[in-house]
Formats: sequence, structure tokens, C-alpha cells
Amino acid sequence: MLHLSDTIAAIATPPGEGGIGIVRVAGPSALSIADTLFVTGSGVPSSLSSHTIHYGRIFDTHSGETVDDALLLIFRSPHSYTGEDIVEFSCHGGPVTLGRVLSLVLREGARLADPGEFTRRAFLNGRMDLAQAEAVCDQIRARTEAAQRIALRQRGGAVSQEVMRLKHELVGALAAVEVTIDFSEEVGELDYDALAARLSGLQAELERLISPADRGRIYREGVRIAIVGRPNVGKSSLLNALLRENRAIVTPIPGTTRDVIEESANIRGIPITAIDTAGLRETKDVVERIGVERAHAAAESASLILFVIDASRDWTEEDDLVFKVISGKRSIWVANKSDMVDEQAAILVQRDLFKRSNRRDVVALSALTLEGMDDLEWLIAEELLHGHTVEETSAVVSNVRHLRALESARDSLKEAEITVENQLAPDFISIDLRAALDALGQITGETATEDIIHRIFQDFCIGK
Ligand code: GDP
Repeated sequence: MLHLSDTIAAIATPPGEGGIGIVRVAGPSALSIADTLFVTGSGVPSSLSSHTIHYGRIFDTHSGETVDDALLLIFRSPHSYTGEDIVEFSCHGGPVTLGRVLSLVLREGARLADPGEFTRRAFLNGRMDLAQAEAVCDQIRARTEAAQRIALRQRGGAVSQEVMRLKHELVGALAAVEVTIDFSEEVGELDYDALAARLSGLQAELERLISPADRGRIYREGVRIAIVGRPNVGKSSLLNALLRENRAIVTPIPGTTRDVIEESANIRGIPITAIDTAGLRETKDVVERIGVERAHAAAESASLILFVIDASRDWTEEDDLVFKVISGKRSIWVANKSDMVDEQAAILVQRDLFKRSNRRDVVALSALTLEGMDDLEWLIAEELLHGHTVEETSAVVSNVRHLRALESARDSLKEAEITVENQLAPDFISIDLRAALDALGQITGETATEDIIHRIFQDFCIGK
């Protein structure tokens, strides 16, 4: 249970060294705590105006020692992030200074904030709805600009507004149904045809939000891509090319990438976790075998596989082994080392691979000269987004919780439509419409249970 009467505090900046670090305090005692700890020429903090900044010193009231000279930011209720009084001490960065300042604040009666508690309070105080609150976390965790833009729009209310609009329409439909239950004599029978049209319109609108949500989800959650192939075909080199930096150690000795390396990359705005697997092949060497087992697991856990083949060599039995491991999985074939073969040979290799791969696209690539990288990145994005990009201006649903709620609302409307088609009693229709409304309310939070809300904020970082 959350006590809004508590005053909470946390270090709001990331751990470690930094130019500045912020200790944030929110709640009814925030200003009085600042009065005790902070001395500034501007006056007593609790007498100062909202949205002002003051230079001064933070004191240890027990020892009289100055702990830091800092800036004090004041935000008075209700115009603050959480809606409560908030003070922020903007100190010199570094864990010791910030730790000392936080201890003083706690000693003065504040409680250490739970993860996401500031944002949770903002939600409970009506400063933002649940979808907006979730977007705060999404924005912090965004790994690409595209993902950040989606989160920013959601935080600004783009998704919530769509949901509110749908809810409004749904309430209208529900009222039309319920009035015939309660006042059938005055208003007459339910107009089933009009209602059916209304419900199918609503379903179409829901579908408009649902269908791009898988792509939105890709931007929010990212995609795991495994790079597989027999030893020495250039997997590590390809990983480096994708990362545009030298993270994996590249060597000319087969079987040296024994561990699985995971790295984050940005491919056309899509956050990617690229997994370089040890050469997939059967081996007696124990260490290497562990690597190979992990590689199998990595290939299993990835949504997409880049199957790397050495274009300068003939297809080998080892290639065949890898081919068997990945068959049936979503894959792009990469004919690497294209710089080592002339154009004629490259065409022959591609033709051969085209046949073997059952006529899928084969990208000719040189991980060394980076020739073909653009084609590969284009194909990866194409494979993941099926030719769609996320529109920069519209609301994009990217959170699977929201997607499930939208689907549930659509399913309830389908049920309602069947009931309408069969011209059953309006009470039955009303039940389905209420279920749809309830599902939509889960997104913005009105109907979300305490348990769901708890789980959402549990994932947040401390101080947000
Ligand atoms: P892995 O075992 O599959 O990870 O292969 P590596 O990335 O370690 O590469 C094996 C060898 O092939 C190294 O000597 C690389 O420099 C070389 N190599 C990788 N990609 C290319 C390429 O596109 N062109 C050429 N010429 N050599 C490459």
C-alpha cells in the first residue's frame, strides 16, 4: 500500500561519477527538510517561490559541517512531477557526496523511495495516466532514436488520447443500449442495425491501432539476431561491421570465438541485440563444445538468424550442418568475403545459395570492405517490419500490455456484434460492451488492478 503522506527521497541520477548528481525529495515534508539542511542567501526554502533555483550550502545539522555547495530546485504542489511539494538538490556528482546528502535527507524523516515511486505518485495524483507513466520508463530505456520518439509521443498522451476517444465512442454505444433496457417504453426498441454499424466502426478503429503494434513492439523491445555459420566464415567480422566498432576479437584461427558475444546495435532505428555464436559445428574439444551448445541456444532464442557463408569457398559439409540447425527458422543468408571473388564467381555462388536456400534473398557482403552492408541492413529491417516503418507523427502502440488490452476490447466487441446480429436481449450486449470498456481502461489505468500497477512500477529505476 502506498502512503502519499510519506516524504520520499532518492538519488535521481545514475550511479557512478558525473558532473552533477541530483537528490530528489517529494512529499509534504520536502520543503521543511530543505529548511533544515539548506542555507541560501535567498531566504528560508519554504518561503521561496515554486519553480525557482537557489545556490547555497547543504549542512550536516549534527556536526555543522558543509557537505556540499549545491543548487536547490523548488517545485510546489500541485505543479510538480508528482503533484506534491518537491525539492531537488543538484549537487556535485559522485557516489559519496550524493550518498551523504541522501543520508541527511533520510535522517530528517524522508523515506527511501521505491523503484518508480515518484512516477507512481504522479499517476496516483492524476498528473499522468498509466500509459504515459509507462512511457517514462520506455523513454529512459530507449536504445534508438525511433524508439525514443515513440516513447516520447506516448508520454505526451498520443496513445492515451486514441484510447480515450475510443472509450468515448464506446460509452455512447453503451448508453444507446442501456437506455433501451431501462426506458424501453419511452425510447422504443434497440436499433440493432445502427448499433451493428457502430460496433464494426469501433472494431475497425481498434484494428488500426492493433495492426502496427507488432512493429511498435519491435522498436520498444528490440530484436535478437543471431549470427551463425561454420568457423572462419566471418561472423565476428560481421558483428563488428554491424556495431561499427571492434568488440569481438577477430582471428584467422578457426574456432576461436568460443563464447557467445552479445552486443547492442541500431539498424535503421530498430534496437538490435546481435549475438555472435561460436562456429556451429560438431566438435570434441570440451571448451568449444560448450560454446557450440550456447550457439544452438542463441540461435533458438533469436528472432532472426544471419547465416554466414564464405563466398570464396565451396559449400562444405560444415555449412550443411549449420544449415540443418537453422532450417525452419527465420533467416537471411549472407555470402561473406565477396571481395575475394570476382564478379563471375560471385554470381555463381549466389546462384548456388539461392537454390540451396529455397530461393530466398542472399546478400553478397564483404565484412572487410563493408560493401553490401547497406543491402544487409535494408533486408534486416524489411524482414522485421515487412516494408513498414513506424510513422513519426501518429500514436504507435509499442507495449504488449496495451496490445493485449486492445485485442481483448476488440474480441469483446466481436462478441457484442454476434449478439447484435442474433438480436438477443440488450442486457447481453451491454455485458460485452462493458468488458471492452474495462479492457481499454486497463491501458490508461482506470480499471488496472493494484497488482498490475505494482508490477509496472516495480520495473522502474529508483529515483524516477
Ligand atoms: P568467424 O570465425 O566466423 O567469427 O570469422 P572471423 O570474423 O574471425 O574471420 C575469419 C577470417 O576471415 C579473419 O581473418 C577475417 O579477417 C577474415 N574475413 C572476415 N570477413 C572477411 C571479408 O569479408 N573479406 C575478407 N577478405 N576476409 C574476411
